[in-house]
Amino acid sequence: MKAVQVTGPGRIDIVEKEMPRITREDEVLVKVRLAGICGSDMHIYHGTSPVATYPRVIGHEMVGEVAETGPAVKRVKAGDRVVMEPIEWCGECYACRSGRRNVCARLEVYGVSRDGAFSEYIVLPERIVHKVDDRLDWHEAVLIEPFTIGAQANWRGGVAAGDTVFIMGAGTIGLCSLQVAKIKGATCIVSDLSDDKLAYAKSLGADYTLNPLKCDIPEELARITGGLGPNVTIDAVCTPKTFEQAVEITSIAGRVVCLGFDVTPSSIAQYSITKKELTIAGSRLQTDKFPEVIGWFQSGKIKADNFVTHRFALTEVGRAVELIETRPDKVRKVVLEIG
Ligand code: MN
Repeated sequence: MKAVQVTGPGRIDIVEKEMPRITREDEVLVKVRLAGICGSDMHIYHGTSPVATYPRVIGHEMVGEVAETGPAVKRVKAGDRVVMEPIEWCGECYACRSGRRNVCARLEVYGVSRDGAFSEYIVLPERIVHKVDDRLDWHEAVLIEPFTIGAQANWRGGVAAGDTVFIMGAGTIGLCSLQVAKIKGATCIVSDLSDDKLAYAKSLGADYTLNPLKCDIPEELARITGGLGPNVTIDAVCTPKTFEQAVEITSIAGRVVCLGFDVTPSSIAQYSITKKELTIAGSRLQTDKFPEVIGWFQSGKIKADNFVTHRFALTEVGRAVELIETRPDKVRKVVLEIG
């Protein structure tokens, strides 16, 4: 079968792999239909992921169809439409025992530290396979995983009804975080350098949109919030500067959520955090968010119909990557149509 492998930094290849087989009772063989290209896939390709190992079959945003099940599998059967929760955890370490298996001491991530979903078939343990309704469009279901990242960011930020949430960046994770925050009953402000992306954020429910090229962000935030600042800032731009700004502009008793893997330090004085008693929360992957997010998709609470902007065959992955790099303003989510 065919798969997309990042052989080393800067090298992406279509490779021929042996068809995977079920070897344990609790495993599921999935025929991959669609897989989304994530920012983290691009980092692995560029060699800027501090967690990836090579060579690696990338991809973790997957929807497919169950082809075969091991004898102990109970929740899914052949023909079911499924998405994958792309993590493996030990169940024993401090994080796992605290209900935070997404940061397990022995965490493995599909498409990052073990082979992922840009392949025609994949074998997965039943515990990370989640069934979705047949009526859900494939091109919507493929977005479930990125929305779990948005759900996690909201959970880590303690977003509640009545909060004002400032989302930096209207890329995939920013837009997913926005929709989850709206479901939670928050007022949402979104910033981005692209007016097109801001217009789309508005169509998804953003209450205010701000372009830092055209306005002074701290001033605008103060105006909108009556001088208080947003209660929660979700930094989905993830540069050292945006993290610094997030700490500066977030309200008293507020929360700052960071999602980046940048290893460059930010310059933040303790006092900025202490005086407002800010909570700075990292948000990585997700824990237990799949059932809730799948429910939102199935009940139509999430608007995802125009989210996928470009589709390519698996063998066209080089063109897909080039498009993401050269036209970031035109791209929301690019998917590979694999099977
Ligand atoms: Mn992703």
